Amino acid sequence: MENLALLNLPDEILHMTVCGGMARVLLLRTTGTTRKAAQIHQPSDTAMAAMSRLMTATSMLGCMMKGEDDSVTVTVAGNGPAGKITCVANGTRVKIAPQNPQVELPLKKDGHLDVGGYIGHEGRLTVIKDLGLKEPYVGQCQLVSGELGEDFAHYYTTSEQKPSIVALGCLVNNGTCLSAGGALIQPLPGCPDDVLDLLEIRAMFFTSISREVAEEPLEDLATKWFDGMDLKILEKESVSYQCDCSREKMEKALIAMGRQDLNELIEEDEGAELTCHFCRTSHQFTKEDLISLMERATR
Ligand SMILES: [Zn+2]
Repeated sequence: MENLALLNLPDEILHMTVCGGMARVLLLRTTGTTRKAAQIHQPSDTAMAAMSRLMTATSMLGCMMKGEDDSVTVTVAGNGPAGKITCVANGTRVKIAPQNPQVELPLKKDGHLDVGGYIGHEGRLTVIKDLGLKEPYVGQCQLVSGELGEDFAHYYTTSEQKPSIVALGCLVNNGTCLSAGGALIQPLPGCPDDVLDLLEIRAMFFTSISREVAEEPLEDLATKWFDGMDLKILEKESVSYQCDCSREKMEKALIAMGRQDLNELIEEDEGAELTCHFCRTSHQFTKEDLISLMERATR
């Protein structure tokens, strides 16, 4: 376990197909992304594992979208102490806003971090895909366990009618992410059931996926795991934690509040400090700043 901390293979997403293009396979390493999120949000070990799994799963959804400006927002709202967690992927850039990242829970009886307990075993998983159309696509399902892997598998099956195998993992030791990653196997149109059954058997390789992705290049793992299944590697892209917030965007948000609310900030608070939920960067607005923003407000 100690050796893993020394390995720094890059965060990547490997796109593949198997069985003559009947199924899509994604393999991800998200260790650096998780470490960056941890640096920003200072989570407990359990919260870090939950955030990491959610970022990995959201990156999967994000990297399957085609348009340059397409984005996906995933919200997990369970009945556990985590509250609401929002994760956004824009292509291969991902960011997360946890509500209660400091909460820690005792380990489960099997010695694993209690991600399901932290998220809660009941609640909702919401996926909003912004494809640049008038209306975004909204998919929703109930949480199955709160462990997130099963919940996303359930989402793909019920909301997108694509019964999928989802593996998400994050190894954490005393506040440090040692390794994180995941895998998705999804049938493509026309995929017969027996191919899925066959893939289900290969999915047993995913049980310690976070450890595996730390130690070997993703291509080598895929070649080993899908041996004899006509594996085709399509492309590899990097994934990273990035927030696209800016003072200009904060200004727009303030202007959108309208004159009345802005006036309240000016009169009562004599200024405003806005902190981005995704990167914790604070932007200060003086009374004078707010007055000039109010002049730009249309209502
Ligand atoms: Zn930000």
